[in-house]
Amino acid sequence: MAQRVAVVTGGMGGIGEAICMRLAKAGHQVVATYSPGNTRAGQWVNDMKARGCECNTVQVDVTDFDSCQKAVAKIQSEAGPIDILVNNAGITRDATFMKMGKSDWDAVLRTNLDSVFNMTKPACNGMVDRGWGRIINISSINGQKGQFGQTNYSAAKAGMHGFTKALAQEVARKGVTVNTISPGYIGTKMVLAVPKEIMDTKIIPQIPVGRLGKPEEVAALVAYLCTEEAAFITGANIAINGGQHMY
Ligand code: NDP
Repeated sequence: MAQRVAVVTGGMGGIGEAICMRLAKAGHQVVATYSPGNTRAGQWVNDMKARGCECNTVQVDVTDFDSCQKAVAKIQSEAGPIDILVNNAGITRDATFMKMGKSDWDAVLRTNLDSVFNMTKPACNGMVDRGWGRIINISSINGQKGQFGQTNYSAAKAGMHGFTKALAQEVARKGVTVNTISPGYIGTKMVLAVPKEIMDTKIIPQIPVGRLGKPEEVAALVAYLCTEEAAFITGANIAINGGQHMY
């Protein structure tokens, strides 16, 4: 299998780290991006190395187009042309719409949706020119079904899939696939920090499979979409939610 250069935004987060690990184990050269506020990049690289995974890193603010252009240029000069882009960075700022401030709306739209434009724009043309590419956008079940207290996040995550469907049509003939993955509850540190009583009485009962998803399960799906075999899958929104939402 060809070794590809794979960029994972938010690569040091709960799901991002599993994606980096899986893509590195598949033989790809992985670059994890981290945010300007992140002070643990050096330690993370060492920890990943100790676990058998070589990753490079680059700092980027995904909300800032200039920062993304510079990061992509740096990756391309150091690691080579980008073949795989996983737009995984994201945040939540939850509040009911009555209480949601403009800054909560802007932060979530910028980090989850503008980021997809900001990173894909400088990376996509090279994929088209070389005739091969994989763009994978990590959305959410809440972009599909909506979620109380998340008008901002649900709008941003639904917007990611609109982007996916439009770009997929534009680049399909050029060997570039564009897909969305929409996870349900995944057992990252943040989700696992929910009090046990709430987990057992409110969250798990909504999930027919009867458990949280694992970051490794999302990562396995990402890795599959990066294969040659997945070349006919494009413009899809693939749910990975234990049956919580079927459509
Ligand atoms: P984490 O908070 O662990 O990871 C999110 C990552 O986004 C962080 O690593 C962070 O980087 C990065 N990030 C945030 N803001 C910026 C910014 N301005 N510039 C650059 N990077 C930024 O979350 P998860 O791993 O849980 O989530 C990953 C993705 O999966 C998100 O898009 C999320 O919405 C989605 N998702 C998660 C679910 C879950 O159950 N966990 C369910 C459905 C969807 P850094 O660490 O360097 O600050």
